[in-house]
Amino acid sequence: MLEIEYWWLAVVPAFFALGWAAARIDIRQVIREARDLPRAYFRALNLLVSEDTERATDVLVELARAERGNTELQLALAGLFRRKGETDRAIRIHQNLLAEGGLDTEAKQKVTLELALDFLAAGLLDRAEGELRRLVGTSQEARALPPLLNLYAAEREWQKAIETARRLEEITGHPRPHEIAQHWCEVAQHAFNHSDDAGAAAAVEAALAANYKCTRANLIGGRLALRQGDPTRALACWQRVESQNAEDLPLVAGLIAETALAHGNGQAAANLLRGYWQQVPTVDVLDAALRVVLAVEGEDAARALLAEAVLQRPSILAVSRQLEHGSPLGDIATLRQLLGQHTRRLSQYRCKACGFRARSHYWQCPACSAWETYPARRVEELNIYD
Ligand SMILES: [Zn+2]
Repeated sequence: MLEIEYWWLAVVPAFFALGWAAARIDIRQVIREARDLPRAYFRALNLLVSEDTERATDVLVELARAERGNTELQLALAGLFRRKGETDRAIRIHQNLLAEGGLDTEAKQKVTLELALDFLAAGLLDRAEGELRRLVGTSQEARALPPLLNLYAAEREWQKAIETARRLEEITGHPRPHEIAQHWCEVAQHAFNHSDDAGAAAAVEAALAANYKCTRANLIGGRLALRQGDPTRALACWQRVESQNAEDLPLVAGLIAETALAHGNGQAAANLLRGYWQQVPTVDVLDAALRVVLAVEGEDAARALLAEAVLQRPSILAVSRQLEHGSPLGDIATLRQLLGQHTRRLSQYRCKACGFRARSHYWQCPACSAWETYPARRVEELNIYD
């Protein structure tokens, strides 16, 4: 045992020696190559490191003039121009590189991508789209598709966005169900707005096929059913949100209340919305439940619902609803506690520079280190008077 350990002790320094030698050889190689470079490169590099892009660009322009055939240098220069916002100069360099020829196919594709990014930065969207589409099916496709997808979304070209997102899924292996379903919802909403009911229905189906948890699809589907004179189907669409993502119930609660009341389904809706409020106790669900309960069961039932709501989930909004409905305030202790919580937050100080809140006043912000950024006013006073 002991002998083996000694043997290892001898090996460790040997490894260190080898590593040291390897490092020396690498450094010598770098130094030898560096000696062949003109001093101007180092000047440019130095300026770039010290973030003086203005002068670094001047130096690189001089160098590029002297070495026209150096593609890497031209690309570096064009990249600098784009970063500085001089997109026209970046475009010219990339176009010249492509026109001069002498690039192999892969290099040409890389330059085409750079040119497309120049056009995007310059706001020339049509030309950017043209160049990016040229890269579909090439080695640069994975880099070209994300900006192409953003571009289609910005131009609201949803069908093309869907095709592009699908293609991205294929080549990267990363599914994008939420994005694609939202694109379909945009198609559906557009069709709905233009009274194309068949188109809207098909797009809603496609959205749900892409992401069966897409609540927005059922929101639109319900509106569509209602317009087609089928309130039962509309209510069924909105109720599906509960199993898809209960957190989105506040978005459909009001619609359910309104539609159920208009079509004589009030009592069923009252029970349904009471249940929703237990799951997602937000003021939107409470308002919807209150509206139906008031209409179907009367004032006393509405007050009872509010009292229960304030007791179970105390919130300032719930208490304010209680006051609106003329309820006598039963539980002063709850109200005092709620007000205490809120006033603690409202009585903080807030940094003008970064928004950091603190309980005491600071001359220097503990978050962003700026001086004299704390107004001597509490948050509530800032909100009211500014
Ligand atoms: Zn700050």
